[in-house]
Formats: sequence, structure tokens, C-alpha cells
Amino acid sequence: MTDQPTHDTPACTASAEIPEWSEATQLVQGGVQRSGFDETCEALYMTSGYVYNSAEEAEAAFQTDGLRFVYSRFRNPTVEMFETRLCQLEGAEACRATASGMAAVWAALIAQLQAGDRVVASRALFGSCTVILNQLLPRFGIETVFVDGADLEQWATALAQPTKAVFLETPSNPGLELVDLAAVSELAHKAGACVVVDNVFASPLLQKPLELGADVVVYSATKHIDGQGRCLGGAVLGSQQFVTDHLTQILRHTGPALSPFNAWLLLKGLETLPLRIERQSASAARIADFLAAEHGVSQTRYPFRADHPQEALARKQMRSGGSMVTLEVEGGKDRAFRFLNALKLIRISNNLGDSKSLATHPSTTTHQRLTPEEQLAQGITPGLVRLSVGLEDPADLEADLKQALAA
Ligand SMILES: *Cc1c(COP(=O)(O)O)cnc(C)c1O
Repeated sequence: MTDQPTHDTPACTASAEIPEWSEATQLVQGGVQRSGFDETCEALYMTSGYVYNSAEEAEAAFQTDGLRFVYSRFRNPTVEMFETRLCQLEGAEACRATASGMAAVWAALIAQLQAGDRVVASRALFGSCTVILNQLLPRFGIETVFVDGADLEQWATALAQPTKAVFLETPSNPGLELVDLAAVSELAHKAGACVVVDNVFASPLLQKPLELGADVVVYSATKHIDGQGRCLGGAVLGSQQFVTDHLTQILRHTGPALSPFNAWLLLKGLETLPLRIERQSASAARIADFLAAEHGVSQTRYPFRADHPQEALARKQMRSGGSMVTLEVEGGKDRAFRFLNALKLIRISNNLGDSKSLATHPSTTTHQRLTPEEQLAQGITPGLVRLSVGLEDPADLEADLKQALAA
């Protein structure tokens, strides 16, 4: 190679160069760092390490920490293109990618917590997030207090004493319960807490927690960002100070690095994210209305439907209702299983945000670790089915749901 590519731009600096681009344009063009070969598509740098032309260069690389690529556990050009593109979309100062969504959640919390700290969290969370908060963190002397996410009084009571971090998910999985991001962020900041939001269900397009006052956003990129069932990935986004002072040390030395190959898949996923989210969200809204009128469904839940108890809040903090719908099948577990087993087009799976529509029975799968009482506290009844609406023609999905409900 003659022309040495300059890969040395720290993550996110590109955002300053292209403020005039709209989101859709930025998701196709943002963060690209071309090599000397002038490739069209983002290059896939499958390399664990980097070479030096002299011992002096190696020495300098280790002295100017972070300015040159030295090892892919620290930085990799393909991973960095993904981080930059996602960072611009989120409107964050900095982004670090991780090998999975759970690696992102764990890193975002453990990077800032120590023995004696207190965390306040909403009760309705993705199963593994609950395990981190009520089983793993207590082993290190960190206490978690859970509140009902929709109840601002409970947040105010819990945040009346000094707190290190707040962790929440909105809309929640699977109950589609909302947390008022602006109000909780304000209460949290008065208590001295850093607000960490798991924004997976809404996706980075439909909800901007940082604009509403949150401090750190985490993603399972496995979900809508890939959205095609191909790989695991995750990301943590926040201020440059949070990344520099807290996150970098944990990621470098514990090693949950995203594979360059997965970063490349996720980069391509970001290009089509607006198209997929728009279509999946429109189909989900239509299917929620369809299900609400069907026999055998006792309740349908969708954030933008008038019968959602927090519809006004949903419309305030989300751009649309998202791709997830829940339905309560009359007749409990037996009837729910009969319905799931009768589906032909929609497949049974615990994944979500995929181009393929997927149905889940939370009480026996994703949330089976919870006691029956804990399940009910999160609205997880034996008849509850979670639907992740994909890219198929919604008319075909409705026909499948209709025949399965009649089975
Ligand atoms: C899937 C998911 C996670 C975990 O992500 P992985 O990529 O599976 O590790 C965390 N939070 C929410 C809300 C999720 O849906």
C-alpha cells in the first residue's frame, strides 16, 4: 500500500464534520474510513493486531496511548466505523461496541460501581439484567432497590437517598411498560445518580434517552441494529468523560470486544435500520389493532394505542410505537401454547427485532426464572404472548394470527 490510510481518528470525531446530514444519510455514509484501496463498502479488518515499522514506532505507540491501533481488544478500524456511525445516530459524544448486549449492560454498570454503592432500577427488565442487578452486583457489595417503573412516586421515594446509578428499560420486556425518562433522570440527578437506559425495545431511531436527560445508553445490537438474525453485538454510549474515566479500563482489561466481522454486519445493519424500523413499526401498529378486535384475545398492548395506560407518555418520548406487541390469549398457558403451535408463518423464538416475525411465551422461556408472583408483578400472565413484528407483508401475518387463534 502506498497511500497510508489515516485510521487514527478517535471514535465520534466524524460527527462534527457532517452535522447537516439527516439520520438516514448518516446511517449510510457516516463513520466511513476508507483504506488506500478506496473501496466503496466499509472494509472488514479481520486482524487481531498491528505491526510497527521500527521498535521506536512500537515504543511511541504505547506511549501515546489510544492514538494508534495496537491490538483489536482495544481498537479495530471496522469496529470503530460501527461505533462512530452509532454514536452519530444516538447523538452521543462517545461509543464503545461490545460482543453482546449483556456485555454492554455489565460494562456500563461495573465500570462505575464499587462496594457500598446503591443502584435503583425498574423491576420490569430483560431477564439477564435482573440477574446482574439482584444476584451478581450484591456479590460485590452493591445494593439494588427495585421500583415499579411506571410509578413516579416509587422512583421519588427510592431516589430520596444518595444513589450511584439508575438502570431502566423503556418500553419494558415483555410488558411494554414505560418509564418517564425526563422525570426519572431529574430525580436521579438530584440523588447523584448516573442514569443508564437499556434502549433496545425502542431502538436508537424511535427514542433518544440522552436528549431526555439520561447519561448512558446501552444496546443489544443483536436486536434491531443487526435485525437479520446473524450475530450478537452490543454498545455503550455516553459522554467522552464516562468512556475515558470509567468504561475504557473495564473494556480493555476484561475483553468483551466485538469481533470485526460482527461489527461489519452491524454497520450494514445500520444502513437499512430506518427502512426496517419504519416498516416493522407500521406493521406492528396495524397488527395490534387487528388483534384487539379478534375473538380469543383478552388484551392487546402497544405503546401508541389509546388503551395503553401510558399512551400520552409514549407519544411524548417515542417517535412511533415500535415493533413489539403483546397479546393475552384467553384460556391461560394451554390455550397460549395451542395458539403458538398453530402459527405457520410466525416462528416461536425468544429473539426480537428481527426481519422475521417471532412469537415468545415469556412466562415459560425468557422470564421462567421469576417466581409466579414476580411474573405477575411484571404483567407476565400464563396467557401472555410477545410478538416481534418483522418485515413480512402484514396481511400474511394477520392471516396466520387469525388461523392460529381459531385453532
Ligand atoms: C436481548 C436484550 C439484551 C441482551 O442482549 P444480548 O445481545 O442478547 O446479550 C438486553 N436487554 C434487552 C432489552 C434485550 O432485549
